[in-house]
Amino acid sequence: MLETNNTSAVPSGAAKAGQEAGAACSCQKPAPHFPEQVTGMYVLARALKTIGIDTIYGLVGIPITEAAYIAQGQGIRFVGFRHEQQAGMAAATHGFMTGKPGVLMTVSSLGFMNGLTATANATVNCYPMIQISGSSVREPIDLLQGTYEGLDQLNVAKPVVKAAYRVNRAEDIPTGVVRAYRAAISGRPGGVYLDITTPALGQVLDHDVAEALLQMPVDLAPSMIPAPESVDRAVKMLASAKKPAILVGKGAAQARVEDLVKTLVEKTGVPFYPMSMAKGILPDNHPLSAISARSTIMEDADVVMLVGARLNWLLSRGHGKWNKEGKFIQLDIDPEEIDSNRHIDAPVIGDLRSSLEAIIAGLDNVKMEMDPAWVSGIQNESKVKNAKFLERLQPKTVPMTHWSALGAAKKVLEANPDVILVNEGANTLDDTRDSIDMFLPRHRVDCATWAIMGMGMGSCVGAAVATGKSVVAIEGDSAFGFSGMDFSTICRFNLPVTVCVFNNGGIYNGIGEPLDKTTDPAPTTLDINARYDKLGEAFGAKTYYVTTPDEFQAALTEAVASKKPCLIDVQLAADAGKESGHIGYLNPTPLIDITV
Ligand code: ADP
Ligand code: MG
Repeated sequence: MLETNNTSAVPSGAAKAGQEAGAACSCQKPAPHFPEQVTGMYVLARALKTIGIDTIYGLVGIPITEAAYIAQGQGIRFVGFRHEQQAGMAAATHGFMTGKPGVLMTVSSLGFMNGLTATANATVNCYPMIQISGSSVREPIDLLQGTYEGLDQLNVAKPVVKAAYRVNRAEDIPTGVVRAYRAAISGRPGGVYLDITTPALGQVLDHDVAEALLQMPVDLAPSMIPAPESVDRAVKMLASAKKPAILVGKGAAQARVEDLVKTLVEKTGVPFYPMSMAKGILPDNHPLSAISARSTIMEDADVVMLVGARLNWLLSRGHGKWNKEGKFIQLDIDPEEIDSNRHIDAPVIGDLRSSLEAIIAGLDNVKMEMDPAWVSGIQNESKVKNAKFLERLQPKTVPMTHWSALGAAKKVLEANPDVILVNEGANTLDDTRDSIDMFLPRHRVDCATWAIMGMGMGSCVGAAVATGKSVVAIEGDSAFGFSGMDFSTICRFNLPVTVCVFNNGGIYNGIGEPLDKTTDPAPTTLDINARYDKLGEAFGAKTYYVTTPDEFQAALTEAVASKKPCLIDVQLAADAGKESGHIGYLNPTPLIDITV
C-alpha cells in the first residue's frame, strides 16, 4: 500500500501484477503471495487513531505531506494552517479544552522551530500537547555534513519541552506515540516533542506486521490519590482560619473539577478568587466571588488555599502585598511546585479531583471557624467596586476607548455565555479580562502564564474545532498582527469565529511618531488607519468596520448569531491605552524593584 491517500491496506502494484499473472496461468499454480505493504506514515496515523487522537493541526511539506493525507484517510481531521506557530497554539488550546493532548504536526527545520514556540508555551502553561515533527536523515546531521533541512531537532527541543523522544525505526512509532501521550497528560501536563526521522516515516512494513505493532495502553490517566495525612493537615488549616480564601487556577479548569470547586466553596462559604483562565469555573457573579477584592485577599487572608494555581509572578510570587503571617495550602499534582516561591504550610499532592474529594469529605469532621464579617466585608467591597467599575464602561466615547468598546462587547458576550472568549494584547487583554464576566468553565483562553503575544488565531481554531462552539476573539491590533494570516484558516474551515481587532494604531497605543511617511514610525507605531476588515474580505469572511459602541454592539450581535467567520475592525482612538497595560512596572526602570 505505497499509494498515499489510502484508507485501508490494498495489494501493492507488485502483488496485483502477481495475482493477474497467476490467474492467466493455465497450469493452475497458486499465485505467489505478496503481502500488503504500508509505510511508517501509515503506522503513525494508525497509532494516533488507536490512542484516540481525532484531530491533527499542522502545516505540510517534506517529509510529512503524505502522513497528513494518510491520517485524513484514517478519519483523523487534519486542520492545515499558514504558520506552524498557530497550528501549535491550536493544538495547545485543544489540549486545554479537552484534557487530551492536542497534536501538532510540522516539517523539519524551521517548520519544527516555528511550532516549537507553541510547544514551549504549552509546557509553561501545563497544556497537554504533542508536537510530531518529521526530521531529516540522521547520519549527515550528526556529522555536520549539510543535508536538506538538517537540524538536530531533538536536542533543540529538549530544554523547552516536558519530554522529547526520537523514533528511528517504523517499528518504534507506536511506542513513541504512547510514550508521548502519557508524558503529555500524566503528572503536570505539558508539551511533548516526538521526532520521527524521514527514513522511519518512509520505511516499508508488511501490513499485518504494522497492525500487530499497535497498542492501546491501559489506564492512560490514572488517579493520583493524595496522602491522608496531607489532606487532614489541609482540612484543619482551612477550618481553623478566620479569614480564608480559595484561589482557583487554570489547573482546576483543565482538571474539569468545577463541580467540586462549587461544592467546596458553597459548603465552606469561603470566598474564592479565580485566576484569568479559571474565570467561569464558578460564575464571576457568584455571591462568594472575590474577583474584585484581590488586594484584600492578598493583604488580609490568614489562610489561602491554592487550587491548581501557581504562586508565580502573576501572584507576586507570594510576596509583596501578601500577608506575611498568612498560611498557604496548595493542591497540585506536581510535588516540585511546592515551596517554589514561598513556604507552603499544607501541600496536598494529587490530582485535583482526588484531592478535592478527600478534602470535601474531611470537612464533615471539622467546624469552620471563619469570621462572618470577613465574607460580608468582601461582599460589600465587591459591590462598591463593581458599581464603580461599571461606570467606566458606560460612556459611549467616540472615537472609542478600550472601555467604551468593551461596554458594547460586554452586553453581547454576557448575552451569549456559551461563546468561548479568546483574548490577547496589552491594554486589550487587561481591560477585557477585567470587564467581561465569565459564567462557564474553559470559556476563556488568553496569553496566560508567559503573557505572550501571538496565540490568537490558533487558539480560536483550536477552541472552535475541539468544542464545536462559537468563539469571539478580542485582539489588540499589534497582537492580531502576529497571527492575522491564520484568520484565513478560520475561513477555510468555515468556523464560527468572530475576530474583533481593537485598532488604536500601535503597540500599547498609536501616539508614537506618526505614519506621516517623512520619518520612520516610532517602534510602537502601527497604523491607526489600517482597515483590518479588508483582510477578512480577502478570505470571504463577513466583515464590519465600526466606529461607535452602538455600531460595535450591533455588528458583534449579528456576527455571533451568524456562526460564520467574521472580522470586525473596531476603530479606537490612537491615544487609548497606556504603555505595557497593567504591567508597565516590569519595564527596566532604574531604582524600581522588578523582582517578580
Ligand atoms: P494559573 O495561571 O491559573 O494560576 P497555573 O498554570 O499557574 O494556573 O497553575 C496550574 C497548576 O495546576 C500547575 O501547578 C499544575 O501542576 C496544576 N495542575 C494541572 N492539572 C492538574 C490536575 N489534574 N491536578 C492537580 N493539579 C493540576
Ligand atoms: Mg494596539
